[in-house]
Amino acid sequence: MFNSLQEKLESAFKNLKGQGRITEINVASTVKDIRRALVDADVNYKIAKEFTDKIKDTAMGEKVINAISPGQLMIKIVKDELTELMGGAEAGFNAKGNPAVILIAGLQGSGKTTFSGKLANYLKSKKGFSPMLVAADIYRPAAMEQLRVLGEQIGVDVHLELENKDAVSIAQNAVKEAKSKNKNVVIIDTAGRLAIDEAMMTEVADIRNAVNPQEILFVVDSMTGQDAVNTAKAFNDRLDFTGVVLTKLDGDTRGGAALSIKYTVNKPIKFISSGEKMETLDVFYPERMAQRILG
Ligand code: GDP
Repeated sequence: MFNSLQEKLESAFKNLKGQGRITEINVASTVKDIRRALVDADVNYKIAKEFTDKIKDTAMGEKVINAISPGQLMIKIVKDELTELMGGAEAGFNAKGNPAVILIAGLQGSGKTTFSGKLANYLKSKKGFSPMLVAADIYRPAAMEQLRVLGEQIGVDVHLELENKDAVSIAQNAVKEAKSKNKNVVIIDTAGRLAIDEAMMTEVADIRNAVNPQEILFVVDSMTGQDAVNTAKAFNDRLDFTGVVLTKLDGDTRGGAALSIKYTVNKPIKFISSGEKMETLDVFYPERMAQRILG
């Protein structure tokens, strides 16, 4: 049975009660427990190691050894460091423009289309924007239809050109249409492939160059664990995205991918998505994710 990291830390220090002073060796073994728990939570091993080496230094510096409740102090140190590593505070999101253009990129099945709908719904109902969705996945008519249905459900216009096989011109036409209809945010749902693919990357980069988006959001399935890091790196190298969206956090993942991605590409995680309902989009708060990783 997987105990939460928090429980592990508490019990590690409880066992030391009555043994006199907590020693440097005890701290070292607890740090090892932390590392193991992070790897269990899907954090990349190398990142977990670097992270725990830092924790060890901080723990020594803060004199956990002499603290009245060393377990509590260790938990606080770990939580603070996790929060800091994932960006500290909320990252912010730029939807100002005439119209603002938001480009959504990621692998097929990562949750791009679902997220596009959720973002439109969030901006409309919570932020008072007038969004337009754009179906730019020219390879999968089903994806276009999916977006059309979502748009209908949330009451947001969807720009569709079923016969147009040029994603760049669809995006450009959509921006023109948005201007003429006084829509102030355009959300472009792009095509994805099952694996990283040169043609897909070129197409997304061409769309980016043509419509100059305020935000390029990389959508990634948090359940894909280690692969999420490699995918994030490939997309960032090519697109220099402005933020990450972690999806499918309603599954039993601990969310370690959040830490690994932030650590590897150093881009903020802006939103999390947990579920298929249009209402389940949340702004990413590093402290909450740190708590989730701690368990
Ligand atoms: P796309 O290919 O990247 O556009 O991905 P879709 O938006 O079509 O999502 C792929 C599948 O994952 C669909 O069956 C969605 O209903 C599902 N999905 C998307 N986001 C979430 C989420 O946050 N949680 C869960 N459980 N399923 C999701």
